[in-house]
Amino acid sequence: MRKLGLRLRKGIRQLKDVLIGRTQITNKLKFYLMIGSVMSVHVLLLCIFYQFRVLPMFFFNICSIITYLTCLNLIHRGSKYYLSVYFITFVEVVLHSFAASLVVGWQYGFAQYIIAILPVGFYICYMLDINRRKIKIAVTLAFVSMFAFILCKMISFYREPLIELNNTPLELALYIFNTCCTFFFLILFTLVFVFEIRLSSNQLQHQNAILEKLASTDPLTGLYNRRSMDIFLSQAVESDVAFALIMCDIDDFKKVNDTYGHDFGDVVLKGVAKITTEQVREKGYVCRWGGEEILILLNNASEESSYRIAENIRRNVANRVFDLNEKWIHCSLTLGIALHQKREAVEDTITRADYNLYRGKRGGKNAVIL
Ligand code: GH3
Ligand code: MG
Ligand code: MG
Repeated sequence: MRKLGLRLRKGIRQLKDVLIGRTQITNKLKFYLMIGSVMSVHVLLLCIFYQFRVLPMFFFNICSIITYLTCLNLIHRGSKYYLSVYFITFVEVVLHSFAASLVVGWQYGFAQYIIAILPVGFYICYMLDINRRKIKIAVTLAFVSMFAFILCKMISFYREPLIELNNTPLELALYIFNTCCTFFFLILFTLVFVFEIRLSSNQLQHQNAILEKLASTDPLTGLYNRRSMDIFLSQAVESDVAFALIMCDIDDFKKVNDTYGHDFGDVVLKGVAKITTEQVREKGYVCRWGGEEILILLNNASEESSYRIAENIRRNVANRVFDLNEKWIHCSLTLGIALHQKREAVEDTITRADYNLYRGKRGGKNAVIL
């Protein structure tokens, strides 16, 4: 009993966390809620049947409650029992509808619970990772529900009820109660379904955004990769707006790697990438073109503006101290600029920027060549 109380308190705490959005609702909690609410309906029916001395249904409901307590235990044991819990619930609901139609008659609306259980099967297929076999099970059970519903009507059509209650207000009250419960389950499952589809579509969008970022950027520097730059370059050519390309290469980078190690080289590379992006901002795109080569695309650029930006980058890199593990060094950058000319193939503009970079290297490095 104490164990049950503890579990109940844990469940309520979990539910509270879900309601305030602290945690996402787990499959286990969903099953607990589902079985818990079905069991509450049976507790209510148990009281009603006891009150009106419908003893066969009173005992049936005791069995139902025991069945659902067993289901709660199965849920606690793990996810491998979830499908069995659904089957047990399905069988119990159908049998209860048959028994109620046989004992008190169709007019009390007990058979409606068969309709309420219908979307649960589909929802569970969705929840427990859809596969063909599970969909088949849900579809089969949906048709079984249909036949069971018709059969309930036929039972009461051909047979008089075992117990005649002859109580019109009770008949109406029970019919309303059963209809309300049925609609409540149907509305709840539809809402949960819609909510979860929306949630998974949001998650998918978020994951797509992450994948898009991973596919378009370089993991070390965070700069755009060559694949993205190719897209920006063709967009720039199509837009017919003047643009400039700046090819940058770190001077004597091999020496940095050889003397201070590859990790230090990475620190320099990341530092240079950061300085470059800070200078370019929304004026264009910065891409890691090769090992330690950076290509900048400047939109709406003139000779003057691109030279100014390139010179700022060069100066900032030259003035920066790069450090790792208490070692520090200065580095420099050589930059070659080329302005795209009308009807020129973008590959030719890149070659000209590369050539200017080469001239800068030949001329002593740490320079901007236009
Ligand atoms: P120069 O001044 O003529 O450019 O001389 P350099 O030594 O910089 O020569 P180069 O540009 O050919 O050097 C490229 C070096 O960049 C070779 C390679 O080891 C290094 N490199 C390429 N990618 C990475 C990287 O991701 N991290 C590190 N640490 N080094 C890299
Ligand atoms: Mg270099
Ligand atoms: Mg190089």
